[in-house]
Amino acid sequence: MSAWIHSDPNADDGYWRDHGMRECARADRCAAPRTETANGRTVYLPALTPRAFCLADHAAIARALDALPALYVRVHQAIDKTFAVAGVGPVVAMSKTAPVPVSLPADELARHILAVLTSWEERVRVVARLAPLSTGASRRRRDGVILTQAWTVLAAHLDALLALPAEPMARTVSLRDAAALPPGTPGLVHHAAGYADVLLTLSGADAGLEILALAARCRSFLTDTPASRRHMSGVPCGACGYTELYEVLDGDGQHAGASCDACRAGYDADAYKALTIDQVTPIRASGARRRALRSASRDDVLSRRA
Ligand SMILES: [Zn+2]
Ligand SMILES: [Zn+2]
Repeated sequence: MSAWIHSDPNADDGYWRDHGMRECARADRCAAPRTETANGRTVYLPALTPRAFCLADHAAIARALDALPALYVRVHQAIDKTFAVAGVGPVVAMSKTAPVPVSLPADELARHILAVLTSWEERVRVVARLAPLSTGASRRRRDGVILTQAWTVLAAHLDALLALPAEPMARTVSLRDAAALPPGTPGLVHHAAGYADVLLTLSGADAGLEILALAARCRSFLTDTPASRRHMSGVPCGACGYTELYEVLDGDGQHAGASCDACRAGYDADAYKALTIDQVTPIRASGARRRALRSASRDDVLSRRA
């Protein structure tokens, strides 16, 4: 993301100084939890912050929002590909294999992303004093244009978005999610179609959580997580000794440790960190020191060859 127009998280404009601190809205999934000792046991509590989210989770939301346009394009491609195979549109050469059904989950996910982002765009436009969307014009906009416009507004006003007060907003949810809502939630259940239109009271904190959930849902739909496994080269497995460790990511695509392809041993983030420290200790003990390379007179500086 390029711009923090109204969104510098470090800016101290004095506004927050007299306000109380509250717990980060990511609750038990807070990226920077504080620890407290109760009855001799360490408990993790959400970070205290003057805003909806702590700085670490604010950054995670910014990264998730940043990734959404590319994820949306890939989800959309999953619809188009199946459409082409199913014979919709100008398909020239038809394959003899059975047609693949239209990807309904991809279509549904793409619509969900658009619906969520445009609903927040509408609310941000009010507080940021931008021209409101005219419904007639927005209906004629193409999906890609809608997404780009909504994303541009949200990315430029991320702080305004995350600070929005609670207001009723329309959401389409599955019947299972609808059943989990607090009793008395207004809405309309479409039993045959298997979904419900509900009215939820949502604030900027919900916007942040929805953005994280959208990116996570896209990634799991695209099965991105196994594809982008990072080899932790140079770190031997503590159990078998092979350097076959691959990074493990959590639901948000953040580092959560490593697992060994040779012996299937698993390490969480702290255990993996301990492995890398084990790795450094014998090197330090041998007296080796990191040393900067000084250029000599005959070095080829341009191609960086000594
Ligand atoms: Zn947090
Ligand atoms: Zn191993």
